[in-house]
Parts: sequence; structure tokens; C-alpha cells
Amino acid sequence: MTSVELPSDVASLCASLAVPFDRKGRRLYLVGGTVRDLLVSGPTDSHDLDFTTDAPPEEVRALLAPLVDDLWLQGERFGTIAASWHGRTVEVTTHRREVYDPRSRQPKVTFDGDLDSDLSRRDFTVNAMAVELTGRAAYARHTYQLIDLFGGRDDLDRRVLRTPLEPAVAFGDDPLRMLRAVRFVASLGLRPAPELVDAISAMRDRMSVVSAERVRDELDRMLVVPDPAPGMALLFGTGLGADLLPEIATPPDLARVEPDLVLRWTAFLACASPEATRSRLVSLRQPRRVVSAVLQVRGLLDRIGSIDRWDAAAVRRLEAASDHELRVALGLAVGIGSITLRDRAAVEALVASMQGREDPFDRSLPVDGSTLIGRFGLEPGPIVGELLARLRAVRASDGPLTRDGALALCEEWLST
Ligand code: ATP
Ligand code: MG
Repeated sequence: MTSVELPSDVASLCASLAVPFDRKGRRLYLVGGTVRDLLVSGPTDSHDLDFTTDAPPEEVRALLAPLVDDLWLQGERFGTIAASWHGRTVEVTTHRREVYDPRSRQPKVTFDGDLDSDLSRRDFTVNAMAVELTGRAAYARHTYQLIDLFGGRDDLDRRVLRTPLEPAVAFGDDPLRMLRAVRFVASLGLRPAPELVDAISAMRDRMSVVSAERVRDELDRMLVVPDPAPGMALLFGTGLGADLLPEIATPPDLARVEPDLVLRWTAFLACASPEATRSRLVSLRQPRRVVSAVLQVRGLLDRIGSIDRWDAAAVRRLEAASDHELRVALGLAVGIGSITLRDRAAVEALVASMQGREDPFDRSLPVDGSTLIGRFGLEPGPIVGELLARLRAVRASDGPLTRDGALALCEEWLST
């Protein structure tokens, strides 16, 4: 028997949650990602806690209501009562038995299942482990017994991703699991079992019944792991990637790109045209703010890519972008290799020098509009704007100006 130690705050929350279930003679188990992550990295803090129970949903609702801060009942007809408690999201799902219609991914749910059947219909063995919280003589101890019916612990040790049942059955019941496999291969560093890979290759067209939002959520979660490469290999090696994202011929190496959602999407779709990038993001129902942020970085990336001589003036000519945006886009261009090897050293030196005192991105002028108005007796209006624009152009091509130099230039322009 393997035992698991829960972090003390999780343990005390679990203990309080278990009390009303115990009184009713019900059972309550902690399951899913929290249990898995405890075995992978020991007691670390994870925010969302998933539970399963033999109590039917209406009873769960009654047991939780007096305890928690907030209840969400949107999932009740699928057996899930969600709550927020001590700043955490807690989801309690009644053991389910699901009957699937092969034409959709909406299961018919019944609540007469037991723990074994509940665990057997979870996506992967590493996610199908549980610890029972009820039926304990003393809650003071934080050590619990691991319930591991499908060898999840061994699979974690051997670093293998497997489904509890036959993969063809698992993916037939819910094709989204194919994409969850990609995500977990990327995030947990597990090797997909060969039969799992074969099942994805054979069944990938079933993905068409999954909603764009669910696809987006899994892709988003895969893209922000430190190195998505193993997930990419599974995604594109099985043909699933070509089905979902036909504009990506070869997935880029994203490990060198900061794990930020916008930057990773920009890099992922960098080989597609900006128009294709936009339509892919829109068809995946990405929020408008993500679409426009990606397109903005992409625009800069393309401008950077079209520069043939990298010197400080070339950088300064990338007007409009803020220092921050430029730094980000330059880092991205170097990361995905859209800048040639020859330019790379120059760009890296520039990015490094941006941290120094002589900031090549500083576009400030030594004079402002009111200085010019006072000095030359001008009327406020377009002429002032014109002088400042000319000064900025000089600043961009020749570098920093002194106050006297700027005033001398204006004097010259005003006299011609
Ligand atoms: P994370 O740490 O990223 O949240 P997780 O394993 O907790 O990973 P969730 O999406 O939060 O993933 O799901 C919680 C648990 O519910 C999973 O561990 C798994 O047991 C089960 N699960 C979620 N989605 C599915 C699915 N599509 N098919 C089967 N089981 C699922
Ligand atoms: Mg989770």
C-alpha cells in the first residue's frame, strides 16, 4: 500500500469536508490532478480540488451548503457540485456511470456507479487514483492510503501515459481525451503508450464532435508548459495536428519562447499568414483580446524579419511599438529562429544593451511643444506638431539629440 501525505492546509480542508459525509454514512474521495501531482512533486499547493462521492448530487448540495462560501450548480445535472471555499475551487462529483452515444460527446449520465467504475472512466491511469477521506478514526494525521486500481503510480514511475480501459474505448467515449493525452504528455513528461498512439492515429477524425472551446482549452494548456515538444510530437505524429491546425506544416520549437499564452500562440502559428493566424484563432473561439494581442506581436515579428541590416538605427526605426513590445518581439524572433544566424548576435547584443544605461529604445526628445512655443514665439497648432515630428525622425535615424542641437535644427527649419 502506498501512502500519500497531504499538505496540511489541504488536509484540514479535506477533513472538514469529510465530516458531514461521514455522519450520513457516505464516502468521499480526493481524486484527479491533486492526487497525481502529490505523487509527482510531493506536497505542493494546488488550487483546485476534485472529489468523488457515492452521495447523489442533491445530497452533496445539502451537505456542502452550510459549509462553503459559494455554491455553483451549473454542473448538477452531470453530477458535479462546485464550491469555493477558503479561496479554492472545490468540485464534488457523484460516482457516475455514463452511457455514450457514438455521434456526440454528451454522455447520458446515471448516478448508480461505484468508485471502481468511476475511476475506470477517467481519462488516464495517472489521473485515476484516489484517496478516501471518510471512515477515518482520527483526522489529525495527514497520511492517507492511495487507491490505485489501474496502476497509475507505476505508470508515473515508468513515465508512461495510459488509459485505464482500452484506448479505443476511452477515445470513442470522449474524443477530447486524445487532446488531453497531448497535453499531459507535454506537461508531465510522460511517454504515450504505443497502443494509445495507435488509437489516436486511427480515431482522430472523431475529434470533429468536440466543441472548439474544449479544443482551445486543451491547446492553451499544452502551449504554456515549459517545453511542449513531446506533446507536439504526439499531436503531429498521429495526424491529429494536421486535422486541427492544417496551416502548421512543422511545429516550431517553443521551448525557447517565454511560456506566455500570447507569445506561444504567435510562435506556434508563425509559419501561417497573418490572415490564416487570425481565422484559426477566431475559429478556436479565442477571446478577442488574445486574437489582437497575437496579431500585434505577429506584425512586429514580420517587421523585424524584414530588416536586413541590424544596427541601432534599424531598431529605432521600429517606431510605434513600446520598448516592452519590442523587447518581447525581438526575444521571440530570436527564440523561433526567424532571425538569421548572422543577425542573431547583433540582435542579442541589442536586447542586452536595452537593459543598460544607453537605451537604444529611448525615443524621448530633449524639448517639448511648450519649449518650442516659448523659444520661437509660435502659436500652438500644427506647426509645433510638425517640428516635433521632424525631431523624432532625426532622433530615430541619428540617435539622441542635445537640447541645443534640437533647437538649432528647429531654427533652421523655421527659417526655410
Ligand atoms: P490539472 O492539474 O491540469 O487541473 P487535472 O488532471 O486535474 O489536471 P482536470 O481537467 O482538472 O485535470 O480534471 C480533473 C480530473 O477529472 C482528471 O484528473 C480526470 O480524472 C478527470 N477528467 C477530466 N476530464 C476528463 C475526461 N474528458 N475524461 C475522463 N476523465 C476526465
Ligand atoms: Mg484539475
